[in-house]
Amino acid sequence: MAKIVQVAAREILDSRGDPTVEAKIILDNGLMAKASVPSGASTGVHEAHELRDGDLERYGGKGVLRAIANISEVIGPKIIGEDITELSKIDHLMLELDGTANKEKLGANAILAISMACARAGALATGQELYSYLASSYGFSTSNYRLPIPSFNIFNGGKHADTNVDFQEFMIIPLVDTLVAEKIRLGSEVFQALGRLLKDNGLDTNLGNEGGYAPNMPSSETVIDFIIKAIQIAGYIPQGQVGLGLDVGSSELYDEASGRYIFKLDQWQLTAAELINKYKEWALKYPLVSIEDGLAEDDWDNWQILTQELGSQLLLIGDDLFVTQAERLREGVEKKVANAILIKLNQVGTVSETIDCIKLAQQSGYKIMISHRSGETTDDFIADLAVAVGAEYIKSGSLARGERLAKYNRLMEIEAQLAGKF
Ligand code: PGA
Ligand code: ZN
Repeated sequence: MAKIVQVAAREILDSRGDPTVEAKIILDNGLMAKASVPSGASTGVHEAHELRDGDLERYGGKGVLRAIANISEVIGPKIIGEDITELSKIDHLMLELDGTANKEKLGANAILAISMACARAGALATGQELYSYLASSYGFSTSNYRLPIPSFNIFNGGKHADTNVDFQEFMIIPLVDTLVAEKIRLGSEVFQALGRLLKDNGLDTNLGNEGGYAPNMPSSETVIDFIIKAIQIAGYIPQGQVGLGLDVGSSELYDEASGRYIFKLDQWQLTAAELINKYKEWALKYPLVSIEDGLAEDDWDNWQILTQELGSQLLLIGDDLFVTQAERLREGVEKKVANAILIKLNQVGTVSETIDCIKLAQQSGYKIMISHRSGETTDDFIADLAVAVGAEYIKSGSLARGERLAKYNRLMEIEAQLAGKF
């Protein structure tokens, strides 16, 4: 039994150059583990609280020194001496210390960094890989691991790019039943083909926050047309081998006053019913597999209609809608809203609560997509989490930028390990 003897944290920078928290746990057997937390841009209003300093003299107010101090002065003293394999207990102790509904006292960024670092330390202490340790600790199968299908965000818009494209993410989803390494190759080949195609058409090939291309475009449909062409150029068959996923990020496009969804580029000002019709039209016209956040985070009634109309054909994924919180998901299950959930550790703030939400989703027949955030670090925890819980899908952005590829590379490593090859 290994015990925690030291807890430390520091401020590091994420992929957008904004401060974030890295935590370190040292055990009495000398082992050490670290973890760092990501940060969103199109954050849901119901997410757990990300504590930032607000001191405009440092990083424009985005510093995380208060979260760091909460780790060293409040959380550390409480968990030192704890058995590292008691992850649920440690998470619970932090929840008690915080005492608020949304972790605003200590900060979900402080709490999550410790929660993840403890999971890693526990894996080390028991001589296991993280995915295997998470699976055994939380009662998932440790044989017959399933690797998730990646959903690659190869074209960025919305809050993840300073361009005219309103839709936040255009993803390609490999539909071929093959190794994850082959799905990643497919993703990369389509991504590269898209780059050449954009360039040949005189469009910008700079990348957005999640490593996808992010040029200004004439319309949302042209983005899809380019992607379909890129799939073909790369030698794959749209629909047969590659599907499309959209993250509309619609909470950002919803205008409370008029109750309409405003898409500036396409000059659409749509009611929810009109937007649902647009999705139906696209589902017929394009090889669409998934729509995430198709409607705003509190538009439960229209989400219900969307689910009735398209739930049998498409993955309807709740991100800002559910914010990885069992309570919101329970409401969704009761109301028959969505059929899949996006899972982001920092929307709820501990590994244990994330797992609770995943279990509820699985019991309720919802598909799981484990997700990165737009502001990331090179921490690859989510790859292990996806394998541990047997998630159907994972999204970690595009096929470029180290912080995105860290997760895909780790998935390939796990695949090779499971095959006894690495
Ligand atoms: P975010 O975007 O990390 O900026 O919230 C990711 C998403 O909406 O899925
Ligand atoms: Zn989303």
